[in-house]
Amino acid sequence: MRSEDGWIVRVRPVCASINAEQWAALAALALSLAHPQIELTRLGNVQLRGVADADLPALLSQLVAARLIPADADADLAPPVHCTPFYTVHDRTHQLAALLSRAVVERLCPSALERQGMAALPSKFGLLVDDAARSLGGVASDLRVWADADGGYGLALGEAGDWYRFADAQQLVDAAIHIAAWFARARMAVSGKPPTRLQALLPSLPLDTLLQDAVPQGAQPPAAAPVLPGQLAQGWVLGAPLGRIDALAMQALAASLPADTEIRVTPWRSLLLMSADAPARVARLDARHWMTDAADARLRVSACTGSPRCAQAHVPAQDIALQLAPHVPERGHLHVSGCAKFCALSSDATSLIFASTSAPDAVWLHAGAAGQPGCPTVRLPYRAGSALPAELPTLLHDLPL
Ligand code: SF4
Repeated sequence: MRSEDGWIVRVRPVCASINAEQWAALAALALSLAHPQIELTRLGNVQLRGVADADLPALLSQLVAARLIPADADADLAPPVHCTPFYTVHDRTHQLAALLSRAVVERLCPSALERQGMAALPSKFGLLVDDAARSLGGVASDLRVWADADGGYGLALGEAGDWYRFADAQQLVDAAIHIAAWFARARMAVSGKPPTRLQALLPSLPLDTLLQDAVPQGAQPPAAAPVLPGQLAQGWVLGAPLGRIDALAMQALAASLPADTEIRVTPWRSLLLMSADAPARVARLDARHWMTDAADARLRVSACTGSPRCAQAHVPAQDIALQLAPHVPERGHLHVSGCAKFCALSSDATSLIFASTSAPDAVWLHAGAAGQPGCPTVRLPYRAGSALPAELPTLLHDLPL
């Protein structure tokens, strides 16, 4: 994808896994051919940004060599299969994720659908492999599957509250593929703009045909809260401020680990360091670049690219967000936007700051509550190189959550 500051190149980790050697390769590419940051997305992808036209072929070929993207561009355009980071290699969750990932590439890539007379699935459509504890229950997906603790397998559709139980992993995968293919065909028959999410066509899904091997079940458990940085049984969850990993910091971490050590990607813009000595390693990390515990105030802010990298930005949104992080109330989340376009706006945001300009040297910061119609927005002058308006911290405290 092309953006104002060059190409954005996305890597979709298979089974959420990237090893230390691959992270080192990503960091080296970020330092040599892109912006020196590795971005974590909300669905567990990673991306490099700011790649020049002339550097794109070399970058892609090095990502293929590092086994970070498939050599076959058609396979890379198959719908994403997001995966929980909480599994043990070769356990039933991992086997299910591997089985589904292979089936999606073989049977739902654009060329496979084209052979059946269908257009490619929309880029918003995705599948998700959850764990038995349903840790990813709060992450939206069109098709969610999991290996249950009782030996069975589950499937949930869109935002439907109920689910279907399968006795066999292959039956579940086949059903998921058939439903995705049904959606690919059914959306083409919709007049006007075709829907991009399965949820829109769920009422017309032929359940009897597509789910004949499944047993309908009741309501799914309530969605789990996002997993925050800190120690877990499987390793240590590490956050990166604003979801952006400093490439030099990653290079140092990756170089300190055995090449095959996994640093899995989570859907909460964080990493799971799968190392037996994670506590000792975490203690040595540079706190400027890593968030290692759930109390870190930087977890309460997000920001768009902002200046200097976005030509439309009036302010350095990321710097402002980090400066204001200690003033955001504990249950709040502040999103800072360099202009009124609100790229990458977090759905968690309870308060917003965006910048506008009324003349080349008159930049304003607008602060208000997110998603609360009628809540007044306060406008404050901003001067590059000066301290932020003194009223902002108090204002953030006073905004409704
Ligand atoms: S919101 Fe505006 S300033 Fe921020 S990245 Fe998007 S266009 Fe650029």
